[in-house]
Amino acid sequence: VANEKESMYLVSEFASKYFQHVLWEEEEGKAIGLSYFKERGFTNETIKKFNLGYSPNTWDALTKEALGKAYKLEFLEKTGLTIVGEDKQFDRFKGRVMFPIQSMSGRVLGFGGRILTNDKKAAKYLNSPESEIYHKSNVLYGIFHAKQSIAKLDNCFLVEGYTDVIQMHQAGIENVVSSSGTALTPNQIRLINRLTKNITVLFDGDAAGLRASIRGIDLILEEGMNVKVCSFPDGDDPDSFAKKTPYDELVKYLDENAKDFIQFKASLLMQDAKNDPIKKADLIRDMVISISKIPDRIKREIYIQECSRIMDISEDVLFSTLAQMAQKDL
Ligand code: ATP
Ligand code: MN
Ligand code: MN
Ligand code: MN
Repeated sequence: VANEKESMYLVSEFASKYFQHVLWEEEEGKAIGLSYFKERGFTNETIKKFNLGYSPNTWDALTKEALGKAYKLEFLEKTGLTIVGEDKQFDRFKGRVMFPIQSMSGRVLGFGGRILTNDKKAAKYLNSPESEIYHKSNVLYGIFHAKQSIAKLDNCFLVEGYTDVIQMHQAGIENVVSSSGTALTPNQIRLINRLTKNITVLFDGDAAGLRASIRGIDLILEEGMNVKVCSFPDGDDPDSFAKKTPYDELVKYLDENAKDFIQFKASLLMQDAKNDPIKKADLIRDMVISISKIPDRIKREIYIQECSRIMDISEDVLFSTLAQMAQKDL
């Protein structure tokens, strides 16, 4: 079984090298893939750093190439790179720009592939399937390139997508990782927890991004970590925002707009409940739920005080709500 996994790593590494070869050396790759990345504003250096590639728009270019180099069909199939049908086999990724997903130590575990059109009917990103070496819920895109910076700066920015990670790097901010399409999981948070206790969630400036950041907060708190949230203007994501913002301004924006989770939740109320007492009550309950996830008692207490102050409600009632919640948990 150890050999099986090793063989899967090796064929994934080969595929990554092949996709890069096509991107840099072959006409189709250069004309379509490389120019796509250039249009997105990625420099050659960035494209190389993240080992970005291109999968040719043919039935089985990668599969043929790999079999020709004596890689076994078994492992091409197990990594999901090749789909084996009744009488033929074909590549999973065709005509897509490729983002290899690396482990903490830099091994290729799988791929995300993006279509180049803005065809709303086709799935924008296609990912490798779950496999023996690729467990989506245990992986963070960008962790290999971010780990040193996360430890050094004692903070981790969490974004939604591949291009957010890459554009932030290019802008000079390297402590960034992405859950890449899956809802954030406890195991992903634990990976970060090995490097820092502080996460700043940077989600897209749209309704989906807002929902995702709200879901993420409680999970992060449950792991005993500190969480801030920084929102972007409507329609922007970290990629588009970093691309158009000079470094100093970007750093300033992130610094000034990263709100502690309790402030972030309070600001949601300002936007949407204002003088509606029922909505205000719901939101306060929601804040206490978040606070109840914090394992450390002193921190819980401090957040209750903070919540009382911002929401203008007595600490007593908040503490008794918290106690009720704890009882329901038992
Ligand atoms: P781009 O800037 O290339 O359009 P994005 O990263 O801004 O992409 P979003 O739509 O914000 O894309 O989605 C965030 C992330 O969710 C993506 O980076 C990708 O990992 C994942 N994702 C998006 N659409 C799909 C899909 N159809 N299938 C699988 N994963 C997806
Ligand atoms: Mn989005
Ligand atoms: Mn996005
Ligand atoms: Mn985007």
